[in-house]
Amino acid sequence: MADDEIEDDEEELPPLKTLFLEDGLYRERDLGGDWGYIKRMIVGPDQQFDAHCVYCKQMSTFKEKVMRGSGAGMRPVEDKTYLSDRVFSITTYCQRNEKHSYLYVFEVKRQVLQKIGQSPSVAELAFPLLDNYEPVLERAYLKELKTALGLFAHGVGAGAFVYLRRVFEKLVHDEAEAARKAGEALTGFDDMRLDQKIEALQHRLPPALVKYKLAYGVLSAGVHTLDEATCKRYFPVLQQIIMVILDDHLAARSKRLALEQLDAAFNKVHAEVKTKSKKKPSVP
Ligand SMILES: [Zn+2]
Repeated sequence: MADDEIEDDEEELPPLKTLFLEDGLYRERDLGGDWGYIKRMIVGPDQQFDAHCVYCKQMSTFKEKVMRGSGAGMRPVEDKTYLSDRVFSITTYCQRNEKHSYLYVFEVKRQVLQKIGQSPSVAELAFPLLDNYEPVLERAYLKELKTALGLFAHGVGAGAFVYLRRVFEKLVHDEAEAARKAGEALTGFDDMRLDQKIEALQHRLPPALVKYKLAYGVLSAGVHTLDEATCKRYFPVLQQIIMVILDDHLAARSKRLALEQLDAAFNKVHAEVKTKSKKKPSVP
């Protein structure tokens, strides 16, 4: 029964851009006899997609250089030899600077396609997004978040959970430290479980962290009991939760900065009004 369900759930082959930019390594894509899919990768048309260039540090278009073999158009209309076992690579070049290249290596084995190599990695492509969190997450923990993504991109599940869990703990403990500095007693805090700590701090923590306090339990289960495949399935959701929590921190920070600027501007206006009213005594 379960097997039938799995077969019914068989995924369609995604647009090639998904293979290049989103899939982690070693994800199996059953070709289901679709030789045309591999033909498009090997013979063309040239691959082209928009992506963040990690070298230019901005969006760019990546394109293959036209290097198609002669006689490509001479192949028969139907050519199942494209489904034969093979390893091939695709290199695309940044259109802002052709020295910037994104390289992909694929393998077809028994009609299953896998991306077996890529440079830069899917995780590196996501890093610029994570760098936005620098104002609200210590550099060492930003690095751990990147490690989690890096491991996931290379097909590791439970190991990636370890790093996500450390970042989650950090977000709670940072708030406890801030509370203590502000003079809060936090009695018995150190002996509490993490979900209890979140409850004790909920008046200070970002709403998303309080809402998803059970995520810590899932992260711990991932480290101790869940199997690899389940960890890999859950990872994107838990990563998203951490990012939503960090977004809350960023939003709170911009609001605080905006209010500080407003305070400063208003104080200036107030001081000017006071000075003017001193210089011009009111007419008797
Ligand atoms: Zn570039």
